[in-house]
Amino acid sequence: MKKVVSVLICVVIVLQFCSCVPAGDTKVTENITAMNTVMQITVFNTSKGTAQEVAEKMIQRIKEIEKLFDANLSDSDTSRINSAVTELTVNDETAELLNTAKKASEITGGAFDITIMPVLKLWGFNDGNYGVADDDVIKDFLEFVDYKNISVAGNTVTKNINTQISLGGIAKGYLGDELLEIAEEYGATALLSLGGNIVLCGNKSESEKWTVGIKNPNDTENIACSFECDGNKSVVTSGAYERYFEYSGKTYHHIIDPKTGYPADSDLLSVTVIGENGAFCDAFSTALFVMGKEKSVAFAKEHNEFDFILITENNEILITDGVTDIESENFTVKSIQR
Ligand code: ADP
Ligand code: MG
Repeated sequence: MKKVVSVLICVVIVLQFCSCVPAGDTKVTENITAMNTVMQITVFNTSKGTAQEVAEKMIQRIKEIEKLFDANLSDSDTSRINSAVTELTVNDETAELLNTAKKASEITGGAFDITIMPVLKLWGFNDGNYGVADDDVIKDFLEFVDYKNISVAGNTVTKNINTQISLGGIAKGYLGDELLEIAEEYGATALLSLGGNIVLCGNKSESEKWTVGIKNPNDTENIACSFECDGNKSVVTSGAYERYFEYSGKTYHHIIDPKTGYPADSDLLSVTVIGENGAFCDAFSTALFVMGKEKSVAFAKEHNEFDFILITENNEILITDGVTDIESENFTVKSIQR
């Protein structure tokens, strides 16, 4: 692979919370709004084909996946699942993602649950029509939330009539995995920013790792820390500051605790999960935010195949062993031993 010259430019604000960019001789940048967020694809070089070709293929893939999962498109698989049916046939990719989502629910003891949709709608996080419902109504709608109420066999989905899903906590992670495959096909080095999810395709250079910055949850124009990361990984962050509304002086954010139906009352400000499987990174980042610090530390100890960066409300950053060369000005960095 061509050596990518290491010019470190932090584009934290443009890319939402993350990252640093090497300068390559063939650099193509494309922006696209999809899945309710702004995405940026930067391809630096490729050994098979042109950077433009890689970027275009990725854009096409983003559109395909959006079409399949967009809950606002009446003929998407998500909308078809969310209609009042108990059995339907879905696309292969949808079946695969549902299986991954269910696995993530099992691994996280239900902290991640795509069937959160009925409650999410009550709060207005599906369409921006925000509001605070009565406690009784939230409890009633919570009855419909349980990932065990949806099952997948081949391409057939069976569900309760009231079961509805939101793939907002996992679809971008899955998309990242698909785009990384395209980069690998072309032997391309690329940096993808998918609305809070970063995908590092290929190695920045033979000798150098990528440098990634994590947004400061208390001051989202700046970073809380930066660290070094190997290529071919996803870096996914979830935090209450990404989407919220205010009502009667209180703030309500978009990560819902499936046990209560309310925005998770977390002692974590953000959770970053780093790993080779972006769909799991995405689901776990949402779930660990729901779980809070103590359970997240226990989870991190049990899951060696991922790395974790937990930013706590006490100005600490807790990291696992794969997070190297971390630098932070405003937070105390501590290690999670495993
Ligand atoms: P972002 O969308 O900002 O990247 P997350 O990956 O944390 O953030 O996902 C939050 C989204 O996931 C919400 O907007 C909603 O669609 C959905 N969601 C909220 N709470 C849960 C939950 N407990 N389990 C699964 N999905 C959730
Ligand atoms: Mg997520």
